[in-house]
Amino acid sequence: MEKKNIDWSNLGFGYIKTDKRFVSNYKDGIWSEGILTDDAEVTINECAGVLQYAQTVFEGMKAYTTEDGRIVIFRPDLNAARMADSARRLEMPVYPEENFVKAVEDVVRANAAWVPPYGSGATLYLRPYMFGTNPVIGVKPADEYQFRVFATPVGPYFKGGAKPLTLRVSDFDRAAPHGTGHIKAGLNYAMSLHAIVSAHEDGYDENMYLDASTRTKVEETGGANFIFVTHDNKVVTPKSDSILPSITRRSLMYVAKEYLGLECEEREVYMDEVKEFAECGLCGTAAVISPVGKIVDHGTEICMRAGMEKMGPVTQKLYDTLTGIQMGRIEAPEGWLHTVE
Ligand SMILES: *Cc1c(COP(=O)(O)O)cnc(C)c1O
Repeated sequence: MEKKNIDWSNLGFGYIKTDKRFVSNYKDGIWSEGILTDDAEVTINECAGVLQYAQTVFEGMKAYTTEDGRIVIFRPDLNAARMADSARRLEMPVYPEENFVKAVEDVVRANAAWVPPYGSGATLYLRPYMFGTNPVIGVKPADEYQFRVFATPVGPYFKGGAKPLTLRVSDFDRAAPHGTGHIKAGLNYAMSLHAIVSAHEDGYDENMYLDASTRTKVEETGGANFIFVTHDNKVVTPKSDSILPSITRRSLMYVAKEYLGLECEEREVYMDEVKEFAECGLCGTAAVISPVGKIVDHGTEICMRAGMEKMGPVTQKLYDTLTGIQMGRIEAPEGWLHTVE
């Protein structure tokens, strides 16, 4: 199969229309079989549930080419399960998890020419999502939904090496206690836009959000979970019911324990103790891990020991091991790489 003529290594993170996307509709209590289509436009009623009351959830994952030339998707079963949890929380019908994985596979297969070659650093980003489509004016869940999956090629996250980020502790909250912080829904992002735009205006890369009720514990950023490394090489990640359960973070914690033999802890992390950590990173599908160099808490600067120049040594090892597993250079745990035949 001939690849698209794209300068893969210089792609950014933006939408590029690819050949095929998957669409299935939910009506009268059942999901249609679903089709692959060329049509990238969505036409819905002006009063659709998603447009009025933001009834929509999504996922984000990647397909890429391994060293031995296979096209694989990383742990899509976990995205399927997480999207089911998100849907239930917003009173949406669950798109069956097996069909989710099959739809994502179909989209990758139909856009195989868009899957970047091994070694380019680029990947095919996959975006499954669903939304309420029928008119809803009184506040209630929609009765009809659409589930879609599209693919778009994205470039290497770190061009010319990973530069540690500078964060600030936000005065805004990301998620309420007992709210929707643990699900992947557009509504959590809509309300984060003001906070991120103003952080950028003030020269910061990201916001560090604290728990909304006490403002003493670390939660996450707008779109990535934290991992910290102690001076004696213990890997620590914050535990909270309002954090989105990152698949990358869960994979990294497994790698830390099972591949690197490091002690790992998922527990509450107080803002007061952040200055004691040696390394800090942000985990998510897009970058795997972005190192954090500095955290500014209302005028107090916390500089991570690993410094502002590059990833700390443990963060680097975690990054190398997980990306090695993903690219097929290091043996993967059972079920982590889903091959698209
Ligand atoms: C998607 C997301 C993450 C990262 O999750 P991954 O499964 O690792 O991509 C972290 N935090 C938030 C708020 C997210 O929406």
